[in-house]
Amino acid sequence: MSRKHADALVIFGVTGDLAHRKIFPSLYALERRGALNVPIVGIARQEMTTENLRVRARDGIERFGGGEIEDEVFERLASRIQYVLGDYSDPESFKRLRIALGEAKHPLHYLAVPPSIFGMVTANIAAGGCADGASVVVEKPFGRDLDSAVRLNEELHAVFPEERVYRIDHYLGKEPLLNLTYFRFGNRFLEPIWNREHVRSVQITIAEDFGVEGRGAFYDEAGAIRDVVQNHMLQMVALLAMDPPAAADDESLRDAKVRVLKSMRSLTPNEVVRGRYRGFLQEAGVHRDSRTETYAAVRFHIDSWRWAGVPFLVRVGKKMPVTATEVLVDLRRPPQALFEDSSDCERNYFRFQFKPFTTISIGARAKKSGETMIGEQIEMLAVHQEPDEMSAYERLIEDAMQGQAGLFARIDEVETAWRIIDPVLAANTHLYDYQPGTWGPPEACKLVVGQNAWHNPLSPVQSHSTEH
Ligand code: NAP
Repeated sequence: MSRKHADALVIFGVTGDLAHRKIFPSLYALERRGALNVPIVGIARQEMTTENLRVRARDGIERFGGGEIEDEVFERLASRIQYVLGDYSDPESFKRLRIALGEAKHPLHYLAVPPSIFGMVTANIAAGGCADGASVVVEKPFGRDLDSAVRLNEELHAVFPEERVYRIDHYLGKEPLLNLTYFRFGNRFLEPIWNREHVRSVQITIAEDFGVEGRGAFYDEAGAIRDVVQNHMLQMVALLAMDPPAAADDESLRDAKVRVLKSMRSLTPNEVVRGRYRGFLQEAGVHRDSRTETYAAVRFHIDSWRWAGVPFLVRVGKKMPVTATEVLVDLRRPPQALFEDSSDCERNYFRFQFKPFTTISIGARAKKSGETMIGEQIEMLAVHQEPDEMSAYERLIEDAMQGQAGLFARIDEVETAWRIIDPVLAANTHLYDYQPGTWGPPEACKLVVGQNAWHNPLSPVQSHSTEH
């Protein structure tokens, strides 16, 4: 079956954290702008009523929806919600679900549950007669490594063909990433220089100024590489590095990303520096002998005509000095040092800030006024937008309901990303301690030797170089 507009939304794990913090506030936002027109069935094993679930939904919207709740909008949303009691291991639960779905022929099943029970849930969705014509949304993590991702995908495909699977990597629904794609391919001037002839390196930093925030047990199982590098970071690299998609449709965009991921080298241990903030082992839920990283710096290589020899340098860390996400595309120096100050301080770059603001700026040299031909670094602000109006989850839920798959991770993207990352997961590389509130272990500098130093988000781009 091709993708169809969903005529019901089923939320598995409706009593969980994700439903509370993200799904219900997004459904409310959709209801407010008249974009929700289907029944919503929540199914979970806690003894409660539909009325209890509506109260819980309202609480989530009030606390995490970021605005005054409009009673009339909420009542419309509440009237769509019903609760089905049921453990997911009990086939009877799914018979009750089928009855609750009534006439619906194309339900969208949202699995807001641990991946360890995806297989059981999807098998029982099928056994209960709820899979025909239906689609499924799953949350990351999509496995812990390549093998487990392949097994997870097999479990999903036993019931749902790939065109009816929506894997959420919520970064793909964020406005600044959509803008990155638009800016790259909506303009002519970038394409001629977006390659190894002109780009010296690309840096991406995703920094958080907080730690594991009560999610120690979850984070200890994942770590920075699995939690961020394998998915959000590689998606960002793919969007920055991909060739122009053949067309604007969902599959062309995903094909372009897969193509660039396929030309990425699998990581070797010397391309990775892992760190752990001091105090992590004392966090609740973290094993005392944990080897999990809270920081990772990685150097990726793309073996393609466009990018051969251009390092993609990425960092992700907790307890950094700021919370910010930034991309710096550093251009090569002019081939001739014409001016007195040419040799050591010129810097041309594109800088994309995704968080806390969306900005795109261009770094250049301009002459200082006066007699001598001495210049200064200037930064031209091309775009400045306020934080995202529409949340990533709101956008992604709407897309999945409408059968639009372009902003979801396809099976080959996920498995290729694991192929790139897998060798370092097994390697158990050295773990360097770092002080909270710093930019991570100084050992990460070895990855940028021969390049400009790591650029710290929200600070001016320095002309300092580690070139020898
Ligand atoms: P959670 O708070 O632990 O909620 C899990 C939900 O699944 C609960 O409603 C739980 O019901 C239900 N459940 C688990 N096993 C069940 C069973 N056998 N029968 C019936 N119900 C069962 O987890 P979460 O944080 O919402 O995360 C859900 C998924 O989203 C996970 O895959 C997670 O990795 C992913 N995710 C979450 C976030 C986030 O911000 N929370 C962000 C990104 C991805 P009980 O309450 O009865 O146990």
